[in-house]
Amino acid sequence: MICTLCPRMCAAERNSVQGEGYCQMGSEAVVSRIAPHMWEEPCLSGTNGCGTVFFGGCPLGCVYCQNRSISHEKKGRRMSDEELAERIHALESSGVHNISFVTGTHFVPNVIHALKICKPQVPVVWNTGGYERVETLKMLEGLVDIYLPDLKHVSPRLGKILANAPDYFEAATSAILEMQRQTGEPVYDENGLMKRGTIIRHLVLPGCTGDSLKVLDWIKEHMPASTPVSIMRQYTPIKECTVKGLDRKVTDAEYERVVQYALELQLNALIQEKEAAQECFIPDFDLL
Ligand code: SF4
Repeated sequence: MICTLCPRMCAAERNSVQGEGYCQMGSEAVVSRIAPHMWEEPCLSGTNGCGTVFFGGCPLGCVYCQNRSISHEKKGRRMSDEELAERIHALESSGVHNISFVTGTHFVPNVIHALKICKPQVPVVWNTGGYERVETLKMLEGLVDIYLPDLKHVSPRLGKILANAPDYFEAATSAILEMQRQTGEPVYDENGLMKRGTIIRHLVLPGCTGDSLKVLDWIKEHMPASTPVSIMRQYTPIKECTVKGLDRKVTDAEYERVVQYALELQLNALIQEKEAAQECFIPDFDLL
């Protein structure tokens, strides 16, 4: 295939096992982990967990990525669309509240094929770094019930330094507006589990709270007031990231500044406990 799935629009050749594009991924899905996952927002995890499918590789590739072993090192194994459909079906049968695809942008055709073989009865979640093309999201319309995008930063300079993507904000905000168009405002069941909607995640980064406030300003201006905004504090420095200032955790004062601003804006903020800022919440990717 010639790939233009993500905003990098490499137009690169991807054969089944390898790719010439920025993400270097082939066209057959690489899956790193398929398992129930308890550590998402409560309206997604509930009591039985999300049924998560983590893919190997990532078109964005943030330098500080907390899932580096799968995003940068591409840990995982190749899986046919038919096997992916079978595994999704088994995961749904285990009682999870939804099926959640994590960083699947570069495998959108595989996900669509797997969902056409076996469409879950529970909601389908698209968990993404936000760096998506509107045209690619349109391919998912009617198949995805809940979008879970990051909105990471506003500044083109930060986009360049952190992910070699100075167009990150422009791409992510266009993508989020398309997600909102597709899902409409959030809908919950009688137990408070989300059935449909868009949740925006924002990971607070050390030394970047000024940019975080601009992220919240955009959400306030462009999204319905009911949109859940998950303000995350679990940034954990990794040795591979050498960007100055990213070698420490977020302080309480930094996190509280961002939360306080979200409350001032009357956003529907989901606030994270300090205990979340631990490496133990990074999934074990040896459990495929
Ligand atoms: S998904 Fe990969 S190959 Fe395709 S446009 Fe994006 S970075 Fe390039």
